[in-house]
Amino acid sequence: MRLRTTCPAGRRTWTVELRPQTGGPVLFCEQCPAGGRPLAAASARSAALAHLARHARCDVLPVHMRTCQCHERGCRWHSRHRGCAGSIRLLLARERRGRVWRLADSCAACAAATDHAAVVPDTILSASVLAACESGRGRRGRLPRGPGEQTRVREMLSYLAAALPDGTEASARLLALQCALRMNAVAEVRIPAGLLRALRLGNRTDPWRELEQARWLSRFPGPADSGGTAVVARLLDAGLLTQSPARPDRRRAADWALRSALPGRAAEGGPLPQLVAVWLTAYTSPERGDGLMESDRMARDCGFDLSALPDVLRQLDATGLLKSLDVCPDSGDLRWKLAEQWLPRQGDHGAP
Ligand SMILES: [Zn+2]
Ligand SMILES: [Zn+2]
Ligand SMILES: [Zn+2]
Repeated sequence: MRLRTTCPAGRRTWTVELRPQTGGPVLFCEQCPAGGRPLAAASARSAALAHLARHARCDVLPVHMRTCQCHERGCRWHSRHRGCAGSIRLLLARERRGRVWRLADSCAACAAATDHAAVVPDTILSASVLAACESGRGRRGRLPRGPGEQTRVREMLSYLAAALPDGTEASARLLALQCALRMNAVAEVRIPAGLLRALRLGNRTDPWRELEQARWLSRFPGPADSGGTAVVARLLDAGLLTQSPARPDRRRAADWALRSALPGRAAEGGPLPQLVAVWLTAYTSPERGDGLMESDRMARDCGFDLSALPDVLRQLDATGLLKSLDVCPDSGDLRWKLAEQWLPRQGDHGAP
């Protein structure tokens, strides 16, 4: 069934609300006239994202006609503002502690200024959306290669921060990152035992269980449960389900994330230093080897409470990943320099 939206063309913003009611949360959509239906609490978030993804899929607009919806509403969705700038992408934003979810076209500047929001990685868009966008620019043939490994990992970390429940452990986030980047066209993924061992997740079943409880994936029963060679799972995240077939460059991004999780002694420190190592490497300039980012952004993307930051930084210090790290006491900004040997490779950020 194709969903018809009542939005005039060009107004690419969709909002759903999960209202708590006795039979479970009920989904209400601003664009859909019909009232909501009760959902199981555990699947409410994925149902909300599925609904939004369906609107975005059915309301395709060539990329040159897309405008910053935040700007058109007076930039009320964020506080700081220095004017719209950058390319227009879909931004998934969460308000009122996950009760309200909004998907909207947004410029890069507004996206960066919006709290609790993530740019939807372009791998998540359906092939038809991409094709329509590209044909709007008059392009033909195979799609361009898209962002480099570093950008893909950065965007996926940010998207997962929005798509996974707040308390999701670092081990489950590391696993989700690998699954999202490695899945095939029907949202199935096979994670070899060797990869799990490399991430020090080989003997852990809890990250899998945690992602299942969040209704983000579901494992296929198989020999892996008894120490087999791989775990096979299907991702249930409906936003991800619509993406174009697995592409080698996305798998390269998964390998990039894997390498970034293993520098120095990061792997010995456990999943959190590993995840933070991936995050820092993803935000490090390959040319200069340094980075600057808000510490609350790191906490959100890596799933820890900001009060735990000093402890996280101490663990990071022990990994040998960093040459220097400063936290600005006023702004909370992190400024770091990676140790020479762990710099992202030049080819990792876009050039083939
Ligand atoms: Zn709707
Ligand atoms: Zn704005
Ligand atoms: Zn804007």
